[in-house]
Amino acid sequence: MSTVFILADFVNGQASKTTTELATAAARIGEVTAVVLAPVGQGAALAATLTSGPISSIVVVENADFQSHGVSASADAVAQLIAQKSPTALLVASHAFGKELAGYVAVKTDSGIITDAVDVASDATATQVIFGGSTTVHSKVSNGTTIITVRPNCITADTSANAASVENISLTISDSSKKATVSSSQPPVQGGRPELTEANIVVSGGRGTNGDFAAVEAFADSLGAAVGASRAATDAGWYPHSHQVGQTGKTVSPQLYVACGISGAIQHRAGMQTSKAIVVINKDPEAPIFELADFGVIGDLFAVLPVATEGVNARKS
Ligand SMILES: Cc1cc2nc3c(=O)[nH]c(=O)nc-3n(C[C@H](O)[C@H](O)[C@H](O)COP(=O)(O)OP(=O)(O)OC[C@H]3O[C@@H](n4cnc5c(N)ncnc54)[C@H](O)[C@@H]3O)c2cc1C
Repeated sequence: MSTVFILADFVNGQASKTTTELATAAARIGEVTAVVLAPVGQGAALAATLTSGPISSIVVVENADFQSHGVSASADAVAQLIAQKSPTALLVASHAFGKELAGYVAVKTDSGIITDAVDVASDATATQVIFGGSTTVHSKVSNGTTIITVRPNCITADTSANAASVENISLTISDSSKKATVSSSQPPVQGGRPELTEANIVVSGGRGTNGDFAAVEAFADSLGAAVGASRAATDAGWYPHSHQVGQTGKTVSPQLYVACGISGAIQHRAGMQTSKAIVVINKDPEAPIFELADFGVIGDLFAVLPVATEGVNARKS
């Protein structure tokens, strides 16, 4: 049986839900090896969190260069592992780091790459949804190792327990992958809300909030949701850019996406159109975002959201 690599993804030192989704998709193609790239001394602890999903083996590489030289050092290590173990495919989470790493690895291994897949079939055919959700594309890599980045929340994760074997491998990162050095980095300030790309529910606010996100945040908190924002809101400085959803922001694919005061420009849709259910609150009945809505409320978000929040909270108590 062929081997398929997944690059294990961690949030706060724990294997993320996305990792289990990657393993589920990879297991359709072959036997899954999870690659853990860790700072020195942290590999075993990170690998120990990979307990769910169809993972047969774990390869742990510890190296200080991952922290000091960022994505290019990580890509160098993955390319070396591919040369050693010849997997048929590599699946990586489709976030900024994952896509950058996958691009580097594709170049280093002379392989084809498909990004932002929403599904992967057993013959490694990837499905992408493009042009504002209007077009579905199926494609397959025809050269080298199949490299696919997979959007979080698109694959129903097989969370059954595994008893994966662990192998530690030491690698020397090439000098050509150390041409940029990270001088400092600060982890994001973690609030009580879930990480945007991992959340099951996302409530987003746009220009319609007029800079006041209190109602959006209160509704998000009632649902245990992450808060997103349109670029109009982040560019205005109303919400941090790290929360921007869309073509030049983050891609989300939650079970439920609630768009509040967002018109539905194509660049915003690009980041949320694969959400399973979409609820829209907008006072303009002609707003294009209603085309995507499973449920729409024509109204002022400052009137609708407090009532919705109260309703959700009342059901909980
Ligand atoms: C290269 C490029 C990349 C881009 N990348 C992104 C991206 O990643 N993400 C992104 O979001 N945009 C992106 N944009 C910008 C995008 O084109 C839109 O300008 C932006 O999405 C608009 O944000 P908005 O919907 O919040 O604002 P608007 O388009 O101004 O819409 C505001 C909406 O709020 C409604 N509204 C107003 N008041 C209320 C109220 N009180 N209650 C309810 N509804 C109300 C209005 O009816 C309107 O529909 C990009 C643009 C370019 C050119």
